[in-house]
Amino acid sequence: MSDALAAAADLVPQLAARAEEHDAAGAFPTADVAALSEAGLLGLMVPERLGGFGAGFADYTRVAQTLARGAGATALVFNMHASVTGALASVPEDLARQLGAGEAFFAQRDRLLAAAAQGALYGVGITERGAGSRLHALRTTYEPEGEGYRLRGHKSTCSGAGHLDGYLVAAKAAHAVDDPDGPVSHFLVPGEAISDVEDTWDVQGMRATASNGFSLDCHVGADTLLGGIEGVAGLLAYGLPQWLVASYAAVYAGVARAAVDAGVSHVADRTVAGQAGGLGQVGWVRARLGRTDAQAEAARLVLEEAGRLVDLAPGEPTTNAMIYRAKLLAGDAARDAADSVAEACGLAALRRGHPLERLVRDARSGPVMPPSSDLAADVLATQHLGLDPVHGTDVRPW
Ligand SMILES: Cc1cc2nc3c(=O)[nH]c(=O)nc-3n(C[C@H](O)[C@H](O)[C@H](O)COP(=O)(O)OP(=O)(O)OC[C@H]3O[C@@H](n4cnc5c(N)ncnc54)[C@H](O)[C@@H]3O)c2cc1C
Repeated sequence: MSDALAAAADLVPQLAARAEEHDAAGAFPTADVAALSEAGLLGLMVPERLGGFGAGFADYTRVAQTLARGAGATALVFNMHASVTGALASVPEDLARQLGAGEAFFAQRDRLLAAAAQGALYGVGITERGAGSRLHALRTTYEPEGEGYRLRGHKSTCSGAGHLDGYLVAAKAAHAVDDPDGPVSHFLVPGEAISDVEDTWDVQGMRATASNGFSLDCHVGADTLLGGIEGVAGLLAYGLPQWLVASYAAVYAGVARAAVDAGVSHVADRTVAGQAGGLGQVGWVRARLGRTDAQAEAARLVLEEAGRLVDLAPGEPTTNAMIYRAKLLAGDAARDAADSVAEACGLAALRRGHPLERLVRDARSGPVMPPSSDLAADVLATQHLGLDPVHGTDVRPW
């Protein structure tokens, strides 16, 4: 696995060199994805027997953090791809068979994973206007049609939409769309089935994720139903939330560290008021660097522990609590570190073209991406209070 991490570290300078241009144009980072593919990293989560690295969750968190130190948006696109391939690769085979998954599902899974190792890129389409990422409130539906299903709906936000070879689409059973407890399933929809990608992504930060919306009204085969059974989306969200929750934490822990690095490099070079030794001679500037270093490292360590627990004991309550802590701490650390360091560096860090100017904007999405920091805190408190995670409070997290 050190090979994958070393490959990611090698890519950081070129991702950083292209980040400003991609950010300014809000352009999908095609060259970065090609470099990830060439380094074999699109196969990070793919088992070795299918041509990948066969990585675990902890490995993923280290690779994604490293990429985020070069370009947060590219790391986020990578995160969506790793979430799809990682979830696919880790479907417990015995359990899936017991629940009714047939050979067609496993053959399709292996095809998709092998294609990823060869450079196919996947993304995730959950979010909808009016529902956010709350699965129970989605309005995209599926219903049986012939040998497979018909999917209909609209997704408002999908990183890389229009550039993807496949989409993990969350949809509700059409017969239960108004029932908050109705089954929500995941479908692996081929890229060519997605129509009407909208050019609507014009946001403050993470601009190069090109997270545009799209519509779908298509027939998909029965083998595209993730796990081969209905209702998997809800089961994963509540039972095995690593790919829905802590995968983002890895990106934002990397963004937090990138902000500290950018601050250190600015402070070391900057002369202020003709003072010898530069900005680093100012005590409160050093204190901000020290505080944000501690915050970024704390987020990394909690994420590392979450990764260790996911690989060791997936689905355990202690594991899931660590996953939510990691997301909360990483999102907040990124926002706070970028803000604080930029303020310490002064106007230069607010000018377009300065890495901190982009990092401040990119980091702002950390606490917003699902689960938001507030929601993650609520999930943790709900667990401590011994309340039912779905119906026990006025907030249903997923
Ligand atoms: C850079 C970026 C990339 C993205 N890429 C993708 C992608 O590839 N695929 C995808 O599907 N989505 C993607 N998203 C969308 C992301 O998942 C949404 O931001 C997320 O679903 C939250 O939706 P929302 O922002 O509309 O806010 P909401 O979820 O509506 O949240 C708004 C407010 O409501 C609060 N809240 C959250 N949950 C609840 C609840 N259950 N009850 C009450 N209040 C609640 C929040 O804390 C927040 O304060 C991306 C977003 C960003 C910023």
